[in-house]
Amino acid sequence: MFTAFLIKYAEIGIKGRNRHLFEDALVHQIKYALKKCEGKFLIHKTQGRIHVDACSAFDFDEVVEHLQLVFGISGICPVVSVEDEGFEKLCDTVVDYIAKVYPEQNQTFKINARRARKDYPKDSMEINADIGEAVLNAYPQMRVDVHNPDILLNIEIREKIYMYSEIIPGPGGMPVGTGGKAMLLLSGGIDSPVAGYMIAKRGVKIDAVYFHAPPYTSDRAKQKVVDLARIVSKYTGPIYLHVINFTDIQLYIHEKCPHEELTIIMRRYMMRIAEHLAKENECLGLITGESIGQVASQTMHSLIATNEVCELPVYRPLIGFDKQEIVEVSEKIGTFETSILPYEDCCTIFVAKHPVTKPNVNVIRRHEHNLDEQIDALVKTALETDELIIVE
Ligand code: ATP
Ligand code: MG
Repeated sequence: MFTAFLIKYAEIGIKGRNRHLFEDALVHQIKYALKKCEGKFLIHKTQGRIHVDACSAFDFDEVVEHLQLVFGISGICPVVSVEDEGFEKLCDTVVDYIAKVYPEQNQTFKINARRARKDYPKDSMEINADIGEAVLNAYPQMRVDVHNPDILLNIEIREKIYMYSEIIPGPGGMPVGTGGKAMLLLSGGIDSPVAGYMIAKRGVKIDAVYFHAPPYTSDRAKQKVVDLARIVSKYTGPIYLHVINFTDIQLYIHEKCPHEELTIIMRRYMMRIAEHLAKENECLGLITGESIGQVASQTMHSLIATNEVCELPVYRPLIGFDKQEIVEVSEKIGTFETSILPYEDCCTIFVAKHPVTKPNVNVIRRHEHNLDEQIDALVKTALETDELIIVE
């Protein structure tokens, strides 16, 4: 019975001159999300609203499910639209709508009419009163409550007549593309896909980089990262995933630096390379899945060491989250099952038994000089052999 959806979005932050950018980005993301659904849709904006009109048969649940992936949508209202065939016919349609959507018919209601077409023979007050009466006649057990109704039935008189009363919650946030772009360091773990999701929810487009170390990390580990990127891309749109071969850099660090500092120094090179890619691709920041104290390389001392090698801001949306809280988000967004597949994202030979938890930055810098001879060439090669995978 529904033939369209009215899309509600949060008004905060989108007033004034930027409003059309916000709306255009939202329309773009809705189109992307609905491409995967059966049916044809016309998506358009009118006077501060976005409409999704179905031009063919469609699967209601499938469309709602996909709209619920689009950041920026705060509510999805399924709409019934009918031709204007006179007021009596309209009353019948409303009575019929209530029978179908609210089979219990024992709730309170309010009619909220809006007349966008001033040549309609009744004004909105009259429409409210007369339709209200028709509903009461049809369902004597229903009552009007103008202050706090169970059912707020909106009726809009335009060329056609639209009615809606249900609001299905959307994901909130801002449309992807309104907030610039950032480079996500995406590993196969639980945390980084969640971190990417959270920053994308604020309207930021996501590029990603994965540091792969074959043969120490398997092809399956890489495929897992591609699969994670694919799940995140349901929310963000296509993700350009850079796969950087990190093996030689890792081996060289292993050979030249103290083992308890391996992870920190490796992380510093990941950040440097990620920043290089970020700048090359117009990203305005880096994103990681770090959380204070989760592992040795994420203590506040360690974070000083990994942070200082970048100029761009590093966004760490999980910084104050417990593991359990991160797991809950990853289950909600659908990455958890893939993240826990047991393909190592780092070989054990590169993991020290007793990694430093309070690295001294001066010491780390000094030990990095052990790498002076070859590291620039190795980084250059790693960047030159960057494999780009477009994930959608
Ligand atoms: P995750 O669950 O995201 O793997 P983690 O708890 O395993 O995180 P670390 O392995 O210490 O944490 O990594 C910290 C962050 O560094 C990750 O969240 C991710 O952003 C980045 N990172 C780590 N390893 C890689 C990698 N191989 N490729 C890309 N990014 C990585
Ligand atoms: Mg990890």
